[in-house]
Amino acid sequence: MLVQVKEGKGVEQNLLRETDALSGQVVGSCYHCHKCTAGCPVVEAMDYGPDRILRMVALNQAEQLFTSRDIWLCVGCFTCATRCPNDIDIAAVMDALRQLAEAKGYPAAERDARLFHHLFLGTVQRLGRSHEAIMLGLFKVFSHVPLTDDLRAGIGLFLRGKVPLLPELTRARKEVRAIFRSRQE
Ligand code: SF4
Ligand code: SF4
Repeated sequence: MLVQVKEGKGVEQNLLRETDALSGQVVGSCYHCHKCTAGCPVVEAMDYGPDRILRMVALNQAEQLFTSRDIWLCVGCFTCATRCPNDIDIAAVMDALRQLAEAKGYPAAERDARLFHHLFLGTVQRLGRSHEAIMLGLFKVFSHVPLTDDLRAGIGLFLRGKVPLLPELTRARKEVRAIFRSRQE
């Protein structure tokens, strides 16, 4: 259920500047037409929705924002960015907000979200691309999600050939690893 954005005292006065710098976007150019939120496939599970998250950045609502589930539930599908009349890449903003949440020591409001992100990035770093079977297998082992959850859906996807057991290695693995190395330096 979506909840209301509170006008607040501004816990973090630099939030707008930090978010713009990290994401390469101009969050203040959003005029809240709501088109991003109307197309977001996971908005039903979010607390606010993408356009209100941008509003919270502009209002310096750091506490409210970083304790919401939205930044951890965004799947980076770019639907919002393709709909935005101001060309704001909201997925990049969400990514920047996750980085800021980590840097400021806020725990992820969505259980196991950090684990999922680290497993996804670890798979991409090693294989050059994601591999659902490996990633989800590791997620089941290390997360709080019961092993049998989603089993039927997983078997259905496997039988339809949607989840190959063996990873397809990309030729550009070295380049992908170099990108990760450059980000860690
Ligand atoms: S679509 Fe763009 S301008 Fe409209 S609310 Fe979303 S971010 Fe703001
Ligand atoms: S990138 Fe994130 S916020 Fe944008 S539509 Fe996809 S899930 Fe929603």
